[in-house]
Amino acid sequence: MTDAGRSRPTPLSRRGFLSAALVGLTQKAGRPIAGGFVNESHVAGHQLRDGIRQPAPTKQRRASVVIVGGGMAGLCAGWRLAKQGLDDFVILEMEREAGGNSRWGENEVSAYPWGAHYVPIPGAAAGLVREIFADLGVYDGQTWDERHLVHAPDERLFLHGRWQEGLEPAVGPTRRDRDQFVRFTARMAELRATGRFTIPMAVGLGPQGVPPEDALSMAAWLDRERLDSPWLRWMVDYACRDDYGGLARDVSAWAGVLYFAARDADDSGPLTWPEGNGWIVRRLLQRLGTRVESGQVTYRVERAGRAWRVLTPTTAWTADVVIVAAPLHVATRIVAGAPPVRVTSSPWVTANLTLEGWPRETGFPMAWDNVVFDSPALGYVVATHQHLRRHVPRTVWTYYWALAHQPAAEARRWLLAQDYATLRDRVLDDLSRPHPDIREHVSRVDIMRFGHAMVRPTPGLLSNPGWRALQDGQDRLFYAHSDLSGLPLFEEAQYRGVLAADRAIATIGRG
Ligand SMILES: Cc1cc2nc3c(=O)[nH]c(=O)nc-3n(C[C@H](O)[C@H](O)[C@H](O)COP(=O)(O)OP(=O)(O)OC[C@H]3O[C@@H](n4cnc5c(N)ncnc54)[C@H](O)[C@@H]3O)c2cc1C
Repeated sequence: MTDAGRSRPTPLSRRGFLSAALVGLTQKAGRPIAGGFVNESHVAGHQLRDGIRQPAPTKQRRASVVIVGGGMAGLCAGWRLAKQGLDDFVILEMEREAGGNSRWGENEVSAYPWGAHYVPIPGAAAGLVREIFADLGVYDGQTWDERHLVHAPDERLFLHGRWQEGLEPAVGPTRRDRDQFVRFTARMAELRATGRFTIPMAVGLGPQGVPPEDALSMAAWLDRERLDSPWLRWMVDYACRDDYGGLARDVSAWAGVLYFAARDADDSGPLTWPEGNGWIVRRLLQRLGTRVESGQVTYRVERAGRAWRVLTPTTAWTADVVIVAAPLHVATRIVAGAPPVRVTSSPWVTANLTLEGWPRETGFPMAWDNVVFDSPALGYVVATHQHLRRHVPRTVWTYYWALAHQPAAEARRWLLAQDYATLRDRVLDDLSRPHPDIREHVSRVDIMRFGHAMVRPTPGLLSNPGWRALQDGQDRLFYAHSDLSGLPLFEEAQYRGVLAADRAIATIGRG
């Protein structure tokens, strides 16, 4: 696979094409802006959902292990199998490019992420994360390669018309608000010390554990703690939107607390790259080589005696063991006999903006992560931030927007109904508050819509019987996706992939 076509937009729908073309002619003040929707996958996804008949496969192939889904979990399952000496496996990825939510793009200015863009320095529980980074040459067992640690300044916040350093609001909070920030931080330190909040979560919790914090929302937990400062509530809401795509009222206290309590307080990271976690994907793809087959949508996984049959439009695979590393809303539709489970998926939008210069701004200088206080979106990350050159004339910004404020299904419908130009203008309008002349600098905006980006860790998810049944898998079939943790994080995807690979090896070993 080459990078050449990575940022090429997929063909637009007729409506999208017409409106994009019209806007090209009638742009607001500023230069003409190219771009369109990229990586649109809802058509293939909805065909699976609606059970649209697929062509009958003409080829028959066999592998000891078939992995369905080439996102981070599927790729890490392959990494583990290969490391353990099991070579007879294949990874079937439905998209043209593997990587899932960790895909990336590239243009003449920089590589840039389409989704995941960082990994925090792993804590004590995350031995597997250290192992993979040691394999990839980022960690030598003691120190982290500084080229991959975020360069300063890492974060800033646009508040009251200017940028400030860090994300905790500096101007506005009263003494009472400040006291609540201090109390919140102390509570998180106490909860961290219990050892229950870890990433991966199964280490602190045990594989079958259901913590009491799963039963209530993060907003209810804050109420219970009498933490009502609007500034603190903004920060917690921001954290829940950032990691889970939902507001504190829609996310369990378990997940909300975990965001703050699972990481070591002296975290010197995170690790990041211009293409975000696509950097990891690239290296895994190099290692896995032809064992990753892209453009292979799996539409059915069914029993064939003791084995499993995995069907794609071209090939009927027979496998001793199947690892289903597709998201749960897909996995439960394509696998015969999968436990029925209803989960909420968070819809997201990301946009990559190519800029021909740096827009005007006021206050603290440009950081890696740039957050706008009263925006519905999460701000933007600068892809060229890790470049070592001092003068970078052109840049790419990745804009993140979790559609958290409406019910998820409603937000998804809204998202699919929008044309490119409307979404592009929303992004530019939002960014023109901190950067009034942004339209004079942007030459391209590509937009990716994720209808089902990730499972939202809603209250009660960990005690949902269907979701728990998925943890066990079926006879010789194991599920592996970050959705199984209810925590959309690199570490959880890797953990789930490795766990499924180890189960596959144990099963094959038993014969
Ligand atoms: C916008 C965004 C930003 C994020 N930022 C971060 C971040 O900074 N750090 C972080 O740690 N995490 C982040 N995440 C979370 C991210 O989801 C995880 O880090 C990780 O990439 C998830 O990997 P996965 O394999 O579990 O899932 P996925 O990425 O969902 O992979 C599943 C794969 O299965 C494929 N597939 C689906 N159906 C089929 C089928 N029928 N046949 C074949 N293949 C199929 C999909 O195409 C996909 O490639 C972000 C997520 C999003 C959406």
